[in-house]
Amino acid sequence: MLLVGFLFALLIAGVIYYKAVVETDVYRDNSEFTAYADAELDSVHLLDEAKASKREYHYEPSVSYAVEYDAYDGDDIAMFRDKKIEHMKSAFIEAKTAAEEERQEKYGDKLGYKPLAHALLVSSRIYESGNGIISVVIYESCNTEQDKAMQREAAGIHTYQFSANTGENLVPVQIFHENYRQTCAAFFYKYFSKEYGKKELAEDWESHLTAAVTNYNKFVITDRGVTFFFDEGSVLEKSQGPVSVEMPMEEIGDMLRSQVLERYIDPYQPMVAITYDDGPGGEAEARILNCLEKNNAVATFFYQGYRIEGNEEKIQQAHRIGCELGNHTWNHPVLTKLSKKKVRKQLVDTNTAIYNASGAFPTVFRPSYGITDDAINELSNMPVIMWSIDTEDWRSRNAKKVFNHIKNQEDLDGSIILLHSIYDSTARATELLVPWLKKNGYQTVTVSELIKYKQGIDPEPGEVYE
Ligand code: ZN
Repeated sequence: MLLVGFLFALLIAGVIYYKAVVETDVYRDNSEFTAYADAELDSVHLLDEAKASKREYHYEPSVSYAVEYDAYDGDDIAMFRDKKIEHMKSAFIEAKTAAEEERQEKYGDKLGYKPLAHALLVSSRIYESGNGIISVVIYESCNTEQDKAMQREAAGIHTYQFSANTGENLVPVQIFHENYRQTCAAFFYKYFSKEYGKKELAEDWESHLTAAVTNYNKFVITDRGVTFFFDEGSVLEKSQGPVSVEMPMEEIGDMLRSQVLERYIDPYQPMVAITYDDGPGGEAEARILNCLEKNNAVATFFYQGYRIEGNEEKIQQAHRIGCELGNHTWNHPVLTKLSKKKVRKQLVDTNTAIYNASGAFPTVFRPSYGITDDAINELSNMPVIMWSIDTEDWRSRNAKKVFNHIKNQEDLDGSIILLHSIYDSTARATELLVPWLKKNGYQTVTVSELIKYKQGIDPEPGEVYE
């Protein structure tokens, strides 16, 4: 039926090749290898949309390789592809050279030893889809001489996705809605049981089509659909090679996000919430925002209402890059010394000003000086956010000192870091801190996200968190 057309028959081509080669000898020189590699690579159909533009051949009597690239070139993603392929080549050469040395040793010095031919065939494609995802797919096949013919020993498919916007590597839940594997499981179970017989299906084929997190991780997004890849010996018998099946758009429905979820929080990885008080405005805050944006990081900003006029674009930028907006009173009074009416005015005026500047209401509240009481907390009608790491950046005004204070904590996971966005030293500290956090495996999250992931609940209005 319709679906037959969506099968990219890597495996069919494999069968044709197998028949052709059994009757021929193994390639013996550069031109024979090139012809052999061309036939092999011609049979691999990764993506019809992206045509191959160049092939690279390297012939040696024993260990040879050929690589196919498409026209995509010149950026970080092309470099990523090239690095992956370089790694495949060197791993292959190393393994096969070692295997031949071992064979030679077995033969001793006798003339009986003749090296076997080993060929690595790599095909790669990069495809940018309309919804902002760049997919990389690399197919590799290790073929070895056996009974005077080249036979496929093992073949594998590797896929990677990147955000066209940020260049960041994406995980499946950034591309699909959380339940996408359920949709896939239903679709592919039906598909494989209809298209293949018992003989072609691997013994435990069904286990590779369940909604388990280990399944449906290899795919390429195109504008026509999503092509999923299945490893050799998983759904189909190993002799069938890896298989790819395109799931057409009408089957995909809403399982594909309309927009890439640029920031994905892994609940099992450490996370910190950086917070900045006393803005908006100033050159220091501009640097902080740019640093966050450049690193695809977020923080929470607690604004003073009186500073907002003229600094609206800072709040807009914070909101746009996914930072959380917070209320830090109108002009920093000791709230406990004010009447209820005046406290309310401090809160409401600031909320309104933040909303007018950004189109978003603040979602969290931090009282000036951290001084508050139950009545004020209740009146705020927002979660009340304190901190767990006080850098005293306002006192030292020393970037290194602030950075070291944070860095020297035993474990930052789950902490709320207090900083102030009005000092140059704090901007510098941020420029040291954010890349360092990233390098050390910390995710930056907003305070609401931190509470949600660490305490398992959404923060509640009137409750105090630290
Ligand atoms: Zn303050």
